[in-house]
Amino acid sequence: MSGATITAGRMDLMLTELRLPTMKRLAMSLCTQSDREGWPAHRLLEALLEHELAERETRRIDRHRAEACLSPDKRLSSFDFAAVPSVSKAQVMALAEGHEWLDRGANVLLFGPPGVGKSHLVSALGHALVDAGKRVLFTRCSDIVQRLQAARQELRLPQELAKLDRFDLLILDDLSYVRRDQSETSVLFELIAERYERKSLAVTANTPFSQWGEVFVEPAMTLAAVDRLVHHATILEMNVESYRRRAAQGTQAARRTQPSGTRETVA
Ligand code: ADP
Ligand code: MG
Repeated sequence: MSGATITAGRMDLMLTELRLPTMKRLAMSLCTQSDREGWPAHRLLEALLEHELAERETRRIDRHRAEACLSPDKRLSSFDFAAVPSVSKAQVMALAEGHEWLDRGANVLLFGPPGVGKSHLVSALGHALVDAGKRVLFTRCSDIVQRLQAARQELRLPQELAKLDRFDLLILDDLSYVRRDQSETSVLFELIAERYERKSLAVTANTPFSQWGEVFVEPAMTLAAVDRLVHHATILEMNVESYRRRAAQGTQAARRTQPSGTRETVA
């Protein structure tokens, strides 16, 4: 066995021990390139470290994307802003790119009837923030309420709320569909109060604030929840006709204007 092979084997072992998989994978080829091209030692070291750091960041973002539970195809690139004139694309882009609002624990609230793109837009925002290195969790509001209620019954609500602290943004989709039940809605209130001015929430809802009394039951609790949510919030009103319905109508209209033989070609 040659000296170089023994050195390579020892290096592999040490890089495994140090958990540096990218350096391990690239060490031999970069060393060879460095010898061939006469790199100064610091250049080789820098190249190895840069690759390790870059791949570590990629792996981290992949992990954060997986834990975020976002729909893979609901991205900003597939969102048609022209369909929702009341929403400013520039404002959404600013939310996607500037993270100062997350540092302040500010919120985003999206309102509008079913099918107008609230879930799509909020997922798209989530993806953009994951790309930027933030941690996001997308959950149906009724699911998280159930999870928190179970935690309360087992006397571990504070621990469960603390676990959610690792997310810079918690997306609560469809607040309006939470069941009207005192113990359930009070855990939702506790979640809102717990994150207030510390960690951001993005909430989508079909119903305007005036109907939130049906979600929180007690008027004082509704008022307190709304107060905390809107205190530092960007509100996106999406009062347009359902995108789904418009898309379906558009397809039907296109079909009607096509000669019957060419129907299959209509998108
Ligand atoms: P909501 O959450 O408001 O009920 P969704 O986000 O579920 O609506 O949107 C319904 C469907 O229409 C989804 O498939 C979504 O991707 C699509 N959609 C809605 N609005 C848009 C839009 N502006 N651009 C592209 N797709 C959209
Ligand atoms: Mg939705």
